[in-house]
Amino acid sequence: MSTWKTAMKELSPGVYAYIQADGTWFVSNAGLIVGPEEALVVDSLANAKMVQAFIAHIEQVTDRPVKWLINSHGHGDHTWTNHFFPQAKTICHRLCREMTLAEMQIGPRTYEAMFPHLSFEGAKGTPQDITFEKQLTLYQGDREIRLVYNGPAHTKGDIFIYLPAEGIVFCQDLLFYRCTPLALAGYVSGWIETLDLLASLDAKVYVPGHGPVTDKSGVLESREYLAYIRDESRQRFAAGMEAFAAAQDIPLGKFAAWADPERIVPNVERLYSEFSGKEPGAPLNVMAILPHMKRMAIKLHSQAK
Ligand SMILES: [Zn+2]
Repeated sequence: MSTWKTAMKELSPGVYAYIQADGTWFVSNAGLIVGPEEALVVDSLANAKMVQAFIAHIEQVTDRPVKWLINSHGHGDHTWTNHFFPQAKTICHRLCREMTLAEMQIGPRTYEAMFPHLSFEGAKGTPQDITFEKQLTLYQGDREIRLVYNGPAHTKGDIFIYLPAEGIVFCQDLLFYRCTPLALAGYVSGWIETLDLLASLDAKVYVPGHGPVTDKSGVLESREYLAYIRDESRQRFAAGMEAFAAAQDIPLGKFAAWADPERIVPNVERLYSEFSGKEPGAPLNVMAILPHMKRMAIKLHSQAK
């Protein structure tokens, strides 16, 4: 069970993390950075109800207009309510915009069948206005806001948002804390490198995409999980074990306590794709993987009882 609540948390004067309780599928975190004249938001949320609650929290702390919206990556729970910020110009990595366009072909409703308990009311893809490749720096008065891309990780187009003077990083889905990382659309080796980069920053506060705010220790825990499943999967891959069998065979140990441990299934599939020499983020057979993941979730749930 989640031990953190939905809340707007002030990290430094004018810098807020909007954290949602549970942090499970499509329940993500966002950010707000208030400048002298206008405000910037980090990520929209999955549905109308969630983003309206977020906007109500924004209005409690500032009346400055939201003129900028950053999308950390192309997943729907970070992009599907961009249109609730009509005054904002949206910014993301080039590959995030490509993912947003691809997701628009599928549409949010497709996910209703897989996640019937979730609402996608008000969810809609909106292509972003501005893209970049490696790094983009924004200024709000004297405040420096660095948008950094370090290669494929959780998806092919994730960025993190670093405020060097405040020592705050909005990692978004580059960091899952007390929630199981999901590598389905990403690249585990690159993700581990990006976590090393995040840990090397002189930062005090790390905002994950899912889960409560943490410090460097949270980054190292996430890295530990990814390195562990990589090493365990590699042995089983070398021994000729099928990916789903490997996912069931790998002991989760302490990581079983994190939300959504069944993500071991897509994560091992992603690793097998990497071990067989496929390119980062190469398409996987999602329609075959998700039923396996569901079986795993039922199995883990019954074990936890
Ligand atoms: Zn994501």
